[in-house]
Parts: sequence; structure tokens; C-alpha cells
Amino acid sequence: MLSKNLKIYNTLSRQKELFEPLRPPHVGMYVCGPTVYGDAHLGHARAAVTFDVVYRYLSFIGYKVRYVRNITDVGHLEADSDDGEDKIAKKAKLEQLEPMEVAQQFAESYHRDMDLLNTLKPSIEPRATGHIPEQIKLVESILKEGLAYEVNGSVYFDVLKYNEKKKYGRLSGRVIEELMSGSRELDGQSEKRNPLDFALWKKASPEHLMKWDSPWSVGFPGWHLECTAMSGKYLGDHFDIHGGGMDLMFPHHECEIAQGNACNHIDPAKYWMHNNMITINGQKMGKSLGNFITLQQLFHGDHEKLEQAYSPMTIRYFILTAHYRSTLDFSNQALQAAQKGYKKLINGYRIAKRLQYTEDPEIAVQPDQVDQVNKSIEAALGSMDDDFNTAQAIGHLFNLLKKINSLYTGQLNPAVFGKETFDKMIQTYVRFLDGILGLTEEKTSNQDQLLEIILNIYSKAKTARDYKKVDEIRAALKAMGIIVKDMKHQIDWAYEE
Ligand SMILES: [Zn+2]
Repeated sequence: MLSKNLKIYNTLSRQKELFEPLRPPHVGMYVCGPTVYGDAHLGHARAAVTFDVVYRYLSFIGYKVRYVRNITDVGHLEADSDDGEDKIAKKAKLEQLEPMEVAQQFAESYHRDMDLLNTLKPSIEPRATGHIPEQIKLVESILKEGLAYEVNGSVYFDVLKYNEKKKYGRLSGRVIEELMSGSRELDGQSEKRNPLDFALWKKASPEHLMKWDSPWSVGFPGWHLECTAMSGKYLGDHFDIHGGGMDLMFPHHECEIAQGNACNHIDPAKYWMHNNMITINGQKMGKSLGNFITLQQLFHGDHEKLEQAYSPMTIRYFILTAHYRSTLDFSNQALQAAQKGYKKLINGYRIAKRLQYTEDPEIAVQPDQVDQVNKSIEAALGSMDDDFNTAQAIGHLFNLLKKINSLYTGQLNPAVFGKETFDKMIQTYVRFLDGILGLTEEKTSNQDQLLEIILNIYSKAKTARDYKKVDEIRAALKAMGIIVKDMKHQIDWAYEE
């Protein structure tokens, strides 16, 4: 069942549009992934969770999604400019590592954190350095179209010339004249004809670490080019959804649109989606502000701004409690509320999975109960159809949770819903949580702690000469493959050999 009601806010048109994929039931989605030179933080988490839910929901309503999310391991220069140092190469120099060691280390830590947040792996996760020939081809094709120029071994995109044919700035709503007046004058050192031009290929200085042969120089590709190359290769020149954080809208996505149009005379994607940013106590997050908190620090409570540790599912739930296009403000208070909310929902999940329907001839189906459940289910799905409004969907899930809790405590009899509605309610609740929202149960206690508690009870039973209980405990643990080691000086346990 492909939903015909899904609406997506398209940044390009600034309105919600009915989602009509180009080649149903297939959907192609490209999301800008991390530049791997540091640990992942809340901003990474928000982008990853946002598009994870898009991916999950599209799959849930029946689409076959090819989800491509890249890893930027070259070409992303400091301050997103064309002249700074490469972010990864800079880190490599500082730590005396190979750039590929830096990329490997932080790609792995990114994956670890995203796994903890229960984001599904993309279908393809291409890397910029693995697509240099494709990027060189694009530069050649843009040069052939007359929309780029070469200076001293570097190649720049000619924004003004492109703007004569296709408007530059459509996505971010920027007007070229304003951009021109707002940009700094070229200082005479620059190779660019115009300050708005951006690099497609940069000639590398001798000390530059990552460089490749090209028809123009030994150099490296401009940052924006990789996404055009990789989305084109895996999804085609015109695909369904392009996503990323709002900070990427300009210049990165604007440049992607220009590059795509220059080569293929069409916008790369039909729908452009942007998740909003996370602020910390109302402030922008930044290394210089001392409020830069990595996910690992959050998970371990290891930062002076943190009153406690917050589990990955708490963070995930916190992100989902706001619509992805709203700003989301981090504070200890907000996260503590999120922790409570998550635990309420997940306790309901545990109950729902165990609840059984029982026929009761004494009890009649109550139409108002059936109606309330159906309305909540429809509203939850309707919220997702309304530009993935997870915040509202969660509100409707809480209404279902009330029913589930009343069934659990015995205040409501399952028979008031009738079997069909009962099953639908349980299935919707469970699948919404672990399928669509990706919220799973976090088991907090570990084996060692639990066994310590049991051995304490064992020891007390023994002191009280309650041998029946002692035997019961031994037998129950043995059934789990655990042997009680009852020694003179201590009681311990071991795996059964
Ligand atoms: Zn990108």
C-alpha cells in the first residue's frame, strides 16, 4: 500500500508538496553525510535521525528506497571555503597521522554512534576519495558547457555566466545581486573572476597531502562536486529526495544544483529537504563557546554542561519530539523530560508485546472505544504523512498508550475493542515505535549485576537453611547455563563447562 497522502516540504518551492516519486515504487534519496575529522555531535545525530525516519517511513508505506549517504573524506576546506586547509588533512598533520587514518577513525566512530542511535545503514555509503575519476569527468563536462574556466591548474565554476541561463540561488532564496554586494571584493591574489565562483578542481600545493592527477594539475576536487558525482552515479541525474542539514543549503546545495544543471540541464533532485539546527541553551553550538558536546560525552555524562548521562534512545526520542524543520534546543531539563517520555513509551511497548486478546461473552464491544483507537491510529499516520511530523505522531501514540496501560491494569477489558481493533492497536503501537520511529528497548541492567543480586538471595536462603529455595535457584541458573560455585570462602558463579 503506497500512501497517496504523503506531503513533503520542498525547500525549493517553499511549500508542502504531494510526494510523487519519479519511478514508483522506487525512491532515490541522497543525504549529505559527515566530514570525518572529529567525533559526531548532536547536529550529526539530528540529521541522521531525521533522514533515518524518512527512510523508515517511506519503506513502511511501501516504497523501495535506495538511500545514499556519503562520507566526505577530502575536499571540505575550513569555513566551507575554497582557500582554507582541508579539514581532514589539518587534523592528520596535528596528530601526525595519514589523512586516511583520520578518515577511517572518525568514519568508524560515526558508525558506532549512529548504530547506538539505531539509525539504519544507508543502502550505499560512498566516499569522495573513491570517486575522483567521476568528479574529473564532471569538471570536463562543465568546462565543455562553457560554465567553468581554468586558471593556473585550478578550475572554477562561472556563477555569473550560469546565472544568465538558470537562476543561481533558487534553493536558498538568495538573489545574485545581493550576494554580489555582500561578498568581499577579490583581493587581486584570487584566481577567481568573481567572488561567488567556486572551485571545481584545485591545484595542490607541494605540501598538500591528498592529491590526484587530472588534466589540469595534480590537485583535488572542490567540496560540492563529490555529492553531484556520487548522487548521479548511484541515483541518476534526476532523483527524488536530496536531504541535509539547513547549514548545507548555501552554498553547498546551491552549488550542487548549479553543477547538476550545468551538466544535465535538470535539477539533481525533485524534493529538497533540510533539517533545522540544534541550539544549546538557546545558543548556537560551537567549539569556541564551550558548548560543543559530542554524542559520546552525552552518552557518558562526560561534559561540564551535563548534569547526567543521557542514553542513545533518550537522545533519539528528544530529536523526534520536535518537527525536523523546527529548531531544537538542548538543555538538561529538556533531555530529562525526554528520558521520561521515552521510558513511558517503551514501558508501553513491553506491555503491548505481551498483551493477549481474550474473548469475553459478557462484555460488549464499545463503539466509542473502537472509535477513539481508530482515530488515534489515523492521526498518528496522518502526522507522518504531514511532512514527517514525528512530534505530533508521538502525541497520538500517547493516546494509544493510555488504552494499553488500562488494559494492563485491568481497567479496560480487551473485549471492549473487539479483536480486530485490539490487534490493530497493538500492531500499530509496536511497529510505530520500533519500525517507524526506531525507538527500541534499552536494557539497562547487565548480567553481572543481576547475578550478584541472585547470589545474595541464594546466600541468605542458605543461612536460613531454606534448602528448597537454594535448590530452586541452582536449578534455575543451571537451566541458563550458569553454575553456582558454593565454596567455603565465597559464593560465585561460572559458565557451565
Ligand atoms: Zn553534500
